[in-house]
Amino acid sequence: MATQFAVIGLGRFGSSLAGTLYEMGYEVLGIDSKEEKVQEMVNRATHVLQVDSTDEVALKTIGIRNFDVVIVAIGEDIQSSILTTLILKDLGVPRIVVKAQNELHGKVLEKIGADKIIYPERDMGIRVVHQLITPNILDYIELAPNYNIVEIAIGPDIVGKTLLELDIRAKFGLNVMAIKSNEQLKIAPQANDQFQEGDILVLVGHIDDIKRFEEYSNGKKKKLKI
Ligand code: ATP
Repeated sequence: MATQFAVIGLGRFGSSLAGTLYEMGYEVLGIDSKEEKVQEMVNRATHVLQVDSTDEVALKTIGIRNFDVVIVAIGEDIQSSILTTLILKDLGVPRIVVKAQNELHGKVLEKIGADKIIYPERDMGIRVVHQLITPNILDYIELAPNYNIVEIAIGPDIVGKTLLELDIRAKFGLNVMAIKSNEQLKIAPQANDQFQEGDILVLVGHIDDIKRFEEYSNGKKKKLKI
């Protein structure tokens, strides 16, 4: 059976999350203590309920523990967020994901057993900065501090070259995981495949090496001998 989600708190973040899951075909229960928030989500979730999530009996009655993942997206009212998480943990919800307002809130959530803590504003800020300083980086996942998987649009200086010619692993210390070309994803790129304009590379490596490659690919740095 597909994963069932419940989202508690239907503010901007919670409603976007619940709506996206619903559009993707998942079963989503949206919960908010305010009637207008519940009304706004009637057509964007499988079910919606007006419930105060700090009310343990109410959460028990609606069978919250039968959901595989419960996301607590209550922001400003930190006390309610913590209390809700505690109740969900007590009721035995298998996976609890909580939006934290700040580091201290995050620490408390970790202590009481939240499975995943998210900082949407902080993380989006970091993401936007990465994209502003290196516009060719379309998306990235942080694997460890300073090590990322990135999707990078190739620059004009490597159009027509092959992976063999570029020797990205030896010269930049990066691994090419895939190439997106004409909407197709090649997950095992061949050494002799030529890069075409518009290609996107999926690379893994240290951020300094990624930056070096990005500059080289755009002709910003002294050319390497290849
Ligand atoms: P966002 O940035 O996502 O809009 P926010 O960080 O400003 O949200 P709030 O507006 O404080 O966070 O909370 C998000 C939603 O959670 C609101 O719609 C609010 O009504 C709801 N909410 C707050 N406390 C509870 C509670 N105890 N039970 C259920 N819903 C709650």
